[in-house]
Amino acid sequence: MRRRWFVGQGLAASAAVLGWGHLRSRPDGSSAAGGPPADGPQSLVIGAGLAGLACAQRLIAAGHAVVVLEARQRLGGRIWTDRRQGWPIELGASWLHGLETNPLVDLVERQLKLPLLPTDDSSRITIGPDGQPWTAGRSEGADAWLAAAMARAQADGRADQPLRQLLPAQLSGDQRFLLIADVEHELGADLDAIAADAPGGDGQELLGGDALVPAGLDRLVAHLAQGVDIRLGQQVSQINNRADGVTVTTAGGQVFQAQRLCCTVPLGVLQRGAIRFDPPLPAAKAQAIAQLGMGVLDKIVLVFGERFWGPQTWIRNDSAEPGLWAEWVDLTPLIGRPALMGFNAASQARQMARRSDDGIVASALGQLRRCYPQATIGAPLQVWLTRWGDDPFAFGSYSYPAVGPVPATALRQELGRRWQSLVLAGEAASTAFPATMQGAYLSGREAAERLLA
Ligand SMILES: Cc1cc2nc3c(=O)[nH]c(=O)nc-3n(C[C@H](O)[C@H](O)[C@H](O)COP(=O)(O)OP(=O)(O)OC[C@H]3O[C@@H](n4cnc5c(N)ncnc54)[C@H](O)[C@@H]3O)c2cc1C
Repeated sequence: MRRRWFVGQGLAASAAVLGWGHLRSRPDGSSAAGGPPADGPQSLVIGAGLAGLACAQRLIAAGHAVVVLEARQRLGGRIWTDRRQGWPIELGASWLHGLETNPLVDLVERQLKLPLLPTDDSSRITIGPDGQPWTAGRSEGADAWLAAAMARAQADGRADQPLRQLLPAQLSGDQRFLLIADVEHELGADLDAIAADAPGGDGQELLGGDALVPAGLDRLVAHLAQGVDIRLGQQVSQINNRADGVTVTTAGGQVFQAQRLCCTVPLGVLQRGAIRFDPPLPAAKAQAIAQLGMGVLDKIVLVFGERFWGPQTWIRNDSAEPGLWAEWVDLTPLIGRPALMGFNAASQARQMARRSDDGIVASALGQLRRCYPQATIGAPLQVWLTRWGDDPFAFGSYSYPAVGPVPATALRQELGRRWQSLVLAGEAASTAFPATMQGAYLSGREAAERLLA
């Protein structure tokens, strides 16, 4: 998610953040069934993640009565801030990327007045299979190799070719590790599955570094949800889409009608066919859903009684088992307790998710003990872990450009194109910043503009 290897000349994204309009809520708070209200046009939004909330806010600002249907019993979708210990732990998105062009920075810093905590990618230690830290020269050499390899892919890579094909058949251990830590972890997918044009052809460069939000990303979600009529626990199972309006049916049998609909369920949910479209989605949209990939990045957060690691922000675990807990980040500055967050991605993450919780924790501790053999690493005081690939309302972490005949940007464009009374939105429909929070947010706002046009 950090695009350390991005070698493009990214363009600045439109960072305009429009002001909120007044809310038109139905006085009785009733369901949206029964057609448009007397006082103005009516819209439905499916999903209360960033895309859905951004879309709802824009429609409300334009005078629409909006109802948001959300399957979970919480807001935020793939922003999931857990506060069960009293402090915020991010189990979904963590970093605001590309601070120079990220419209969420304005919301967080200037509107919510919440501080950002920038993180430094260069503050890292990589511990090799022999237990020895990589030297600075070794790191620089590997980084230079990766930058050159990605530049070649940017110049020559095609959508219908796996990225792996553009790389040397024989990779050194260091090269293989960097590809896992910097490319597979970023996209949530194996090199064989990623399209070779990914480094140049999917999204814009993220300019301006990354930062965490110590107060918790749920504060941003709550801000965007203010004044929006959101119905939790409403899992949509069918959408009837006509030129003059939509009818939405939930798994519980409730029916909602509106003139317009923005559907922001994740790509993974669309791929599973969890929502039946009547008439079926046009062929080009169906192809976009089938060809784009849904990647997996899973996290574990471990709080310890005391620190046993050094001052670096990033601990990179180049173990004999490639990709296993390949990266750790020190969360101590964020939550004020000795804590580490570890990551698995792609097939490594999918395999790990099949283990029991205890098995996952044991695996993570085993790798930390490998990295710090001198330390006595006891059982963690608190543990959080995720299985995003199995989440029934996401089926993955974020989209990526998978190998196929059509370049990802064209697929994402097609996904977001208006079809009768409906627009699909969300990070997968963002051509500028796919797989990110700002991509979801901007996609939601763009969807609203399409519905208003
Ligand atoms: C582990 C992880 C790490 C990440 N790290 C970062 C990061 O550091 N920085 C970053 O910018 N991005 C990161 N991302 C990506 C970011 O979280 C997403 O791009 C963004 O939050 C997606 O927003 P969205 O509105 O498109 O989708 P979502 O947030 O998924 O919202 C869609 C909503 O639809 C709901 N829904 C699903 N099915 C139904 C249904 N049938 N009926 C009704 N509702 C339904 C879901 O419950 C959900 O609330 C990360 C994601 C994950 C999982």
